Amino acid sequence: MKNIYNYTLQNLEDYFLEIGEKKFKAIQTFEWLYKKRVSDFEQMKNIKNDTIMKMKNDFSFNSIKIVTYKQGKDVYKFLFQLQDNNYVEAVLMLHDYGNSLCVSTQVGCNMGCAFCESGRLKKVRDLETYEMVCQILEIEKTLDIRISHVVLMGIGEPFDNYDNVIKFIKIINDGKGIDIGARHITVSTSGIVPKIEQFIKDGNQVNLAISLHAPNNEIRNKIMKINKAYDIEQLMSVIKKYIKETNRRVTFEYIMLDGVNDSKKCALELANLLKGINCYVNLIPYNETSHIEYKKSSEQSIKEFYDILKKNKINVTIRREFGRTVDAACGQLRANYEEG
Ligand code: SAH
Ligand code: SF4
Repeated sequence: MKNIYNYTLQNLEDYFLEIGEKKFKAIQTFEWLYKKRVSDFEQMKNIKNDTIMKMKNDFSFNSIKIVTYKQGKDVYKFLFQLQDNNYVEAVLMLHDYGNSLCVSTQVGCNMGCAFCESGRLKKVRDLETYEMVCQILEIEKTLDIRISHVVLMGIGEPFDNYDNVIKFIKIINDGKGIDIGARHITVSTSGIVPKIEQFIKDGNQVNLAISLHAPNNEIRNKIMKINKAYDIEQLMSVIKKYIKETNRRVTFEYIMLDGVNDSKKCALELANLLKGINCYVNLIPYNETSHIEYKKSSEQSIKEFYDILKKNKINVTIRREFGRTVDAACGQLRANYEEG
């Protein structure tokens, strides 16, 4: 049986046409699922009985389970158990502009970035679309809140699970579904260049963030294995194409690692690399973890780095530190839960 939360509106329309029904049933179903949040076909009152019977035969409502959550100031961290007993996590951040959820896209990650908990645990499998959708549904139900922003920055590399991720984005963006605006959705990638190409071709309207973390290949090779497959020149070239074709601004994420990528020289080099590019730099104080050696840069070096970028007219912010007390960096809660 297929999981109903794997289906975009278009997929459901195709399904209804296939079984000889009118395609508007797809909208009705979508509204029951995502507006009224029923989790049982019997409750879909405006759909006739024999259609309900067919749907019951074809679809399951299987979800994922919140096994534990931790609450900090303005932040919640959730651990989910999947049907096959794998675990992923999601982090909810309460901002003054709304509630933002950081979702996971894979169990583990094969990109193997040296500073990251998720990369330390190799990829076990991709998440199915429903497992991403249900992170939102389960949290909204548990806390009785609405999520207004979604960032794909939890465990996993979204562009290594491209098709399921794009389906997920379609479902949550759909006005008949969860209806989160494209401008409120951000997908973050470590820089899989061919998938960025495809993302451009697909004409996706959601925001794109790139985990850059280094101003040159020498440093980036040391901390991000992906750079050996697609180096900074290839990455910058596809990003320029993205900006040109979409007219949109790109966000660069830059984790501040003590003594690794946080010198004044690095700041100048970064300013040079990004000169004239329509972008935004997010400096992220590294969230230290007990399993990995890297240390967070001092406040002073972060401030100096920031000042140099500013002086060189680069749009830059220092990301607010969320949830150090709840192990909020990607992969940490899972690692601590499974490894003790
Ligand atoms: N795989 C994608 C998205 C998930 S990681 C990517 O790499 O972009 C989301 C962001 O969290 C990335 O920028 C990643 O580098 C960062 N990150 C990973 N571990 C971190 C840590 N311990 N502290 C702060 N940021 C971290
Ligand atoms: Fe994977 Fe992103 Fe972590 Fe790198 S930073 S290992 S790409 S989740």
